[in-house]
Amino acid sequence: MSERPLIASRTAVFSESVIREMTRLSLRHKAINLAQGFPDFSAPEFIKRAAVEAIEADVNQYAITWGDPRLRTAIAAKVKRHYGLDIDPELEVTVTCGATEAMMATMLAFVQPGDEVIVFEPFYENYVPDAAMSGATLKFVTLRGPNFVFDPEELRTAFGPRTKAIIVNSPNNPSGKVFDREELSQIAALCQEFDCLCLTDEIYEHIIFDEHKHLPMATLPGMYDRTITISGLSKTFSVTGWRLGYVVGPPGLSQAVRKVHDFLTVGAPAPLQQAAAVALEEGDGYYPQLRSMYQRKRDRLLTALRESGFICNEPEGAYYVMADFSALPFEGDDTDFALNLIERVGIAPVPGSSFYHDAHAGSQFVRFTFSKSDETLDEAAFRLKSL
Ligand code: GLN
Repeated sequence: MSERPLIASRTAVFSESVIREMTRLSLRHKAINLAQGFPDFSAPEFIKRAAVEAIEADVNQYAITWGDPRLRTAIAAKVKRHYGLDIDPELEVTVTCGATEAMMATMLAFVQPGDEVIVFEPFYENYVPDAAMSGATLKFVTLRGPNFVFDPEELRTAFGPRTKAIIVNSPNNPSGKVFDREELSQIAALCQEFDCLCLTDEIYEHIIFDEHKHLPMATLPGMYDRTITISGLSKTFSVTGWRLGYVVGPPGLSQAVRKVHDFLTVGAPAPLQQAAAVALEEGDGYYPQLRSMYQRKRDRLLTALRESGFICNEPEGAYYVMADFSALPFEGDDTDFALNLIERVGIAPVPGSSFYHDAHAGSQFVRFTFSKSDETLDEAAFRLKSL
């Protein structure tokens, strides 16, 4: 063998997904998987039927690369109904293989070596490899305290001449934070001052609790032209395995994302795009049920965690809770705690450090998802009592 390294150096700065590793460990130990955020219950009947019908109607070949026209029209119509934005499905909507591909294609389209990208932490783990593969350097701004707030001065300091973009994930995975108008306005003002893009991950837009409201960055004054909005069907319609995401942005920016998407994946699954169109066309009656279902699940899991000695904030949206285990009688870090919980209690969480660049910052947390059936959550509550 030659001395030449076989593996590209861009892969050296990230490891395999900790979230998916926890799923594998959970399966091995027959634990309850509260690690990876996907439902263990059925998708809504009307969207499953639409998928079956599309396959029976022989929708088996590539859809148009940017997405099936009916689906792009349904996305534009939904964005108009919910957020009041007028967007052209021909030029401003791109369907991707999940929000994961959407973010990767977006980063590859706009970010290059030497650029800086700001991300709030705790962050969703994908942004680290996304940045590494596009050559960007990440700058972290920490959300602190029980309500996960940022310090406006710290945010300002993160911006500079090399800043190309900031990633805003709201409702936020893993903290459950929902960014309010004032916070988004502060971010928007800095994007305009430093002439950079805002890349938003709004995959949990319909999973939001109490009085909280989802406010897309693209609706703020002056922001549409510099915002790439990412969302998808996975979480809203409980179809994480269908791999259906989308990107909304002004024509010039969308064109760049489309070019990358074209050569990354060609397109998302064609029959499932038909079903997704039906879901979005008929979904408005479904969203309120989804919210109340998840609010009940949140409360169920929070009660069980608090009764077992965890300290938890109350998530405002998304379907995760960061649980502080420092009050429990346990010696060890978050990874030790997670492994112990899988092996001894039969519940899999995600170690908190996987959401922070400085592992120490997350070492008293583990993340649990409540995207599970009531039976699963009740069984988890029962097992937690043994702590
Ligand atoms: N978004 C989900 C989570 O945070 C699933 C991650 C994944 O495996 N793509 O758990």
